[in-house]
Amino acid sequence: MKNLVILGGGYGGMKILNELLPNHLPEDVTITLVDRVPYHCLKTEYYALAAGTISDKEVRVAFPEHPRLDVKYGEVIGIDRTNRTINLKNAQPIVYDDLIIGLGCEDKYHGVPGADQFTYSIQSIEKARLTYSVLNNLGPGSVVGIVGAGLSGVELASELSESREDLNIKLFDRGKHILSAFPERLSKYVENWFVRNNVEIINNSNITKVEEKRLYNHDEPIDCDVIVWTAGIQANKIAREMDGEKDRSGRLIVTNHHHLPADEHVFIVGDCASSPHAPSAQLAEGQAEQVVEVLKKRWNGEPLPESFPPIKLKGILGSLGKKQGFGMMADHAITGRVARLIKSGILWMYKFHNG
Ligand SMILES: Cc1cc2nc3c(=O)[nH]c(=O)nc-3n(C[C@H](O)[C@H](O)[C@H](O)COP(=O)(O)OP(=O)(O)OC[C@H]3O[C@@H](n4cnc5c(N)ncnc54)[C@H](O)[C@@H]3O)c2cc1C
Repeated sequence: MKNLVILGGGYGGMKILNELLPNHLPEDVTITLVDRVPYHCLKTEYYALAAGTISDKEVRVAFPEHPRLDVKYGEVIGIDRTNRTINLKNAQPIVYDDLIIGLGCEDKYHGVPGADQFTYSIQSIEKARLTYSVLNNLGPGSVVGIVGAGLSGVELASELSESREDLNIKLFDRGKHILSAFPERLSKYVENWFVRNNVEIINNSNITKVEEKRLYNHDEPIDCDVIVWTAGIQANKIAREMDGEKDRSGRLIVTNHHHLPADEHVFIVGDCASSPHAPSAQLAEGQAEQVVEVLKKRWNGEPLPESFPPIKLKGILGSLGKKQGFGMMADHAITGRVARLIKSGILWMYKFHNG
């Protein structure tokens, strides 16, 4: 038997399972999935988990079951490509024939002193739960500093402000306008929503240091009861520590077939893989679909295409609390209730299709 090992049951890992398991897994191949969490987590909803507006159960999806799928609950601590083994904390190593790395990302602190120690995070389920606990234990009038007004910072700030009007939320962003990657009309719509909902936006900010319950913006101290960091991500530490070329976010450079240039048996998907596109769940799934194509062709002894067609991304949608939203779909900016309804519909469909 050959063993296909998948590290990480996130959006990329889950897509591989769902594509292979029903009827595309050859009789002589087994799959071992390794994750530190015993279920698939809906990371795109962590802003709501941290704000306390959805329950923990709502972000969990059971892994599929199959006679040739072995789900190992554990912490990956290293990959030994020479011996084709995965090292786990307090458990026997796992041997692979083919490996897919989909371990997601971590916060990137850009060398800001104290940021890793004194800020909370929504980049993993464990950290989002901790953030939920500190945010929801705050008394009225408490100050929450959110550093970074990209998609996740905006979603967290709006969700929290809608459900806790008593909090004083400050959203710090480097740019002249928040959501700088989006068209200006859309940024302004979101900024107006924040003005109406008493979230203070601090543009052109530069956080130079963080201490316990205090951050420094251009060296000016600002006291906060809780500080949440949403100002950047990088590839998971395991991927960053692997040999091989990486981009500025520590994501591994891959070939057209999504494997390491030096090892055709090690594939990378999702936030660990370098790509011209911004990391997203959609991208992770698109890469996973193409990895499955490569594996199926290899298993069938068929030639591989030189390259795959570009991965089609449908757009990006963000929420502003439970009723309003914003986003880009087919290059068009959309805002308001419709954007929010489409976002909820996509989540519903995802949950429906994943069991
Ligand atoms: C608040 C927020 C909102 C977002 N909204 C959107 C959106 O609307 N649309 C969109 O497309 N994208 C969105 N994203 C981005 C999206 O969530 C990620 O790009 C996506 O999750 C990446 O998928 P992945 O498969 O690479 O990794 P993940 O889904 O992060 O999965 C990684 C898995 O690896 C496991 N793992 C990590 N390290 C270890 C280890 N050492 N040992 C064992 N297991 C480990 C984790 O438990 C996890 O299950 C959002 C992200 C956030 C934070």
